[in-house]
Amino acid sequence: MENYLNAFLNAFNGSVQWTWKSIIFEVPWYTNYFWGLIAISLFVWILEILFPWRKDQSIFRRDFWLDAFYMFFNFFMFSIAISGFYKMLEVLFKDVGITAKSLAIIDISAFPMWLQLLVFFIVLDFVQWITHIMLHRYRILWNFHKVHHSVKEMGFAAHLRYHWMENVLYKPLKVFGVMILGGFEPSQAYIVHFVAIAIGHFNHSNIKITWGPLRYIFNNPVMHLYHHAYTLPKGSYGVNFGISLSLWDYIFKTNYIPEDSGTVELGFPGDKDFPQDFLHQNIYGFGKDKKKG
Ligand SMILES: [Zn+2]
Ligand SMILES: [Zn+2]
Repeated sequence: MENYLNAFLNAFNGSVQWTWKSIIFEVPWYTNYFWGLIAISLFVWILEILFPWRKDQSIFRRDFWLDAFYMFFNFFMFSIAISGFYKMLEVLFKDVGITAKSLAIIDISAFPMWLQLLVFFIVLDFVQWITHIMLHRYRILWNFHKVHHSVKEMGFAAHLRYHWMENVLYKPLKVFGVMILGGFEPSQAYIVHFVAIAIGHFNHSNIKITWGPLRYIFNNPVMHLYHHAYTLPKGSYGVNFGISLSLWDYIFKTNYIPEDSGTVELGFPGDKDFPQDFLHQNIYGFGKDKKKG
């Protein structure tokens, strides 16, 4: 038991220290997610201001500060809080003989770095696409995912507006993804993480980007806006589930972009009764099953 407690405290302490060191620039710049997130956010925000898609949308759109708060909460406060639990689980799995290498089907460690990163990026994106579909498919999960879909005016900061439970729900398949790749992250995985943050910010931004013919590979603001549309095609529980890549939606025919004016109504049926503040939005998913929505 002491083992577990130690693992918990060490991991918790470690992430507090790491975050603090990031804030005061005492970590290598390329692993500095704190200032990295701020830099990417400012960059995309400036582009939104210079080249707005919906020209009448305010620079400080509805829920801008709420979403900015979500961004830091999910990325730093929550990851510090959960780090101890994840470490304890890791020790537990090790004790029962399951290691990160147990499921390895390909060993990417022998690949050149660019290929390691590419495979890592594609596999992680695919397992997240599957998780995202489940968040829409099952009511109990959807009630958590509603936080992300309660945004009514779209801008880059909505990217990280989501219930902290999503961090937990995405984790098992992400770990599975890493396990089938031989149980390790490429040493330069931070490149993949930063690229994913930037693509996610762009997907939610008020900038009309489609990437031209590359839109069949990369997700984009036009496609993702329809993921947030209030009215879905009849009989479906969602469209355009892509995270960084749009490829999966085209392969599995869940793609849907009827037009690109950028003015489609956002949200979900029943969202006018959805809580408006951080605290209640976070309690909502744990409440009794909701009748509507
Ligand atoms: Zn969604
Ligand atoms: Zn979104």
